[in-house]
Amino acid sequence: MPGSENSTAAGQQNKLILVEFLLPGMIEQPLIKLENVWKIYQLGKVELEILKGISLEIAPGNFVVILGPSGSGKSTLLHIIGLLDTPTEGKVFLRNQDTSFLSEDELAQIRGEKIGFIFQQFNLLQNLTALENVMIPMVFQGISEIERKNRAEFLLESVGLKERMMHRPFELSGGEQQRIAIARSLSNDPEVIVADEPTGNLDSTTGKKIMETLINLHEKEQKTMIVVTHDPAIADYSEQIINIKDGQLVSNHLITEKVLWEK
Ligand code: ADP
Ligand code: MG
Repeated sequence: MPGSENSTAAGQQNKLILVEFLLPGMIEQPLIKLENVWKIYQLGKVELEILKGISLEIAPGNFVVILGPSGSGKSTLLHIIGLLDTPTEGKVFLRNQDTSFLSEDELAQIRGEKIGFIFQQFNLLQNLTALENVMIPMVFQGISEIERKNRAEFLLESVGLKERMMHRPFELSGGEQQRIAIARSLSNDPEVIVADEPTGNLDSTTGKKIMETLINLHEKEQKTMIVVTHDPAIADYSEQIINIKDGQLVSNHLITEKVLWEK
């Protein structure tokens, strides 16, 4: 295996990372699989090729980071992975189900049940309280009001917003708003959470706290997390790193093992 040099010198602070190049077919039961995905926009007579034949697989429970320069197609890719958008060509499978045959209603149902979204701009409803914002996605899953309220309270408490439940987003800081969005993304207990530069609008200290919240969530709940970020700390934490450039896959690595030892 490449990069698997093992030298456990005592008293040395070090990190051993075993990296495995992920090739199609390597993950036995992928949660998400993209097969030769293209996204092409037609602008007048010009065809803009935004994603150019991306194939990748994501294992259930992985913490996945998508890296790439601005404009490389990360958001477009994340939207396709999260079934918010469909490819021009190619296929997206969710647990082996080919999603290209699903209607918009069926896709919306799957998104509501299985996928939680966190965006750079938080995307909260400004005239609703924190509590109501977290309760909203559960309305569409036929959950009773009392259950919705209890779960929303529990989730807001778990992201440290117990004292802020009755506030509206504009009364809260950026970090607090993003924590509402994290709580909201969990409301339907999704299998996958996708986050598009969740710390992009936050100062670095607040960003760090948000990333810690996401890492915690992953460790406690074992949810599959797919995060677009520039934050090197989160890339360090991840188990799978997808690198894209100009709409193409540059690399796709599985970090198979991390061994940390300290002085
Ligand atoms: P990133 O998130 O990596 O910054 P995006 O996925 O947002 O990149 O965008 C990649 C490219 O696709 C950019 O050049 C952007 O201008 C273009 N793009 C995104 N959405 C559209 C659209 N709806 N129509 C035309 N071009 C688009
Ligand atoms: Mg983007």
